[in-house]
Amino acid sequence: MKIHAQNIFKDVQIESLISNNNYASAADYLFDSQLNSWEAMKNNYDALKNVQTKSFWFDGSKLKVQFNPGRIKSTSAEVDEKSVKDRQCFLCVENLPLEQKGIKIRDDFILLCNPFPIFPQHFTISLLNHKPQRISESFGELLELTKLLSPNYTLVYNGPACGASAPDHLHFQAGTKNFMPIETDIQLLKNDFGIILREDELITTSFIDDGLRKIIFIESTDKKEIEKTFQLIYKIYEKLSGVKPEPMMNIISSFDLEFGWSVIIFLRNKHRPDCFYKKDPEKILISPAAIDLGGIVVSPREEDFVRIDKEILNKIFREVSLDQKKFFSLAKKLKVELR
Ligand SMILES: [Zn+2]
Repeated sequence: MKIHAQNIFKDVQIESLISNNNYASAADYLFDSQLNSWEAMKNNYDALKNVQTKSFWFDGSKLKVQFNPGRIKSTSAEVDEKSVKDRQCFLCVENLPLEQKGIKIRDDFILLCNPFPIFPQHFTISLLNHKPQRISESFGELLELTKLLSPNYTLVYNGPACGASAPDHLHFQAGTKNFMPIETDIQLLKNDFGIILREDELITTSFIDDGLRKIIFIESTDKKEIEKTFQLIYKIYEKLSGVKPEPMMNIISSFDLEFGWSVIIFLRNKHRPDCFYKKDPEKILISPAAIDLGGIVVSPREEDFVRIDKEILNKIFREVSLDQKKFFSLAKKLKVELR
């Protein structure tokens, strides 16, 4: 395991928070400290405070478009095999800027402030080892990290072929809780558009097609039961989609002391919409990943931000989401397995 001591944040306060397993407060403390010591990061968070947004209401949910020029590199990142191979991995600890300090979580993850934020507080949690982005092997860790950071933050996973800007290095993101509209809209979406496949004292699993997205929603206080359900979904979805190295998905995961985990899985058909590849003036540079599908649509170019309307969002969301036939075929197969 590669650990570069200069990038581990050392502080009595942090160490005491960590020894009490209070990672949410430790992350908050790290964030303030990094704002004070890392000018480039502070400038980007200051810019985010005055960011322009516009909101659109759909049946049962809200999408908020955020004009965020700081995200241009991430939105347009080349993630094909050759481009990834030719660049230096920006998540490997030895390549981090000297100003960037992190907190170790368990023995194998490091939590870092994201210097190109979408959330008011935005973190990257990456594995200390350079290993590919794969959810089937790391889903349990996602749930565990979600619980550790839960009082303040929600976690996000982007698949290697649908939004992860480092498909070669396992990482999650964490951001300010309830910042994404779907976190508050999901129960309403479930009531209005959900098909409940299983609901008992252990777990609730529902399929939601709200006309924009294809969502599987899992709620439970039992970590093992969620993992079991997820692996079942993964297996069926993998076979159905045939996409390598992993069936396309984005995940939003949150935890509540009373209700346990809420896991929102977006099933995908495409990495980027056609308008992403068009030439101006038809081009719209939006590359949807978990945060966008969760209702904060990042638009790094002003001309796109001005143009985007309800119809454009509707088209992009439908285009990148799994088609209805496959979605319901997955639901049918899963229902048989859950019986
Ligand atoms: Zn790496």
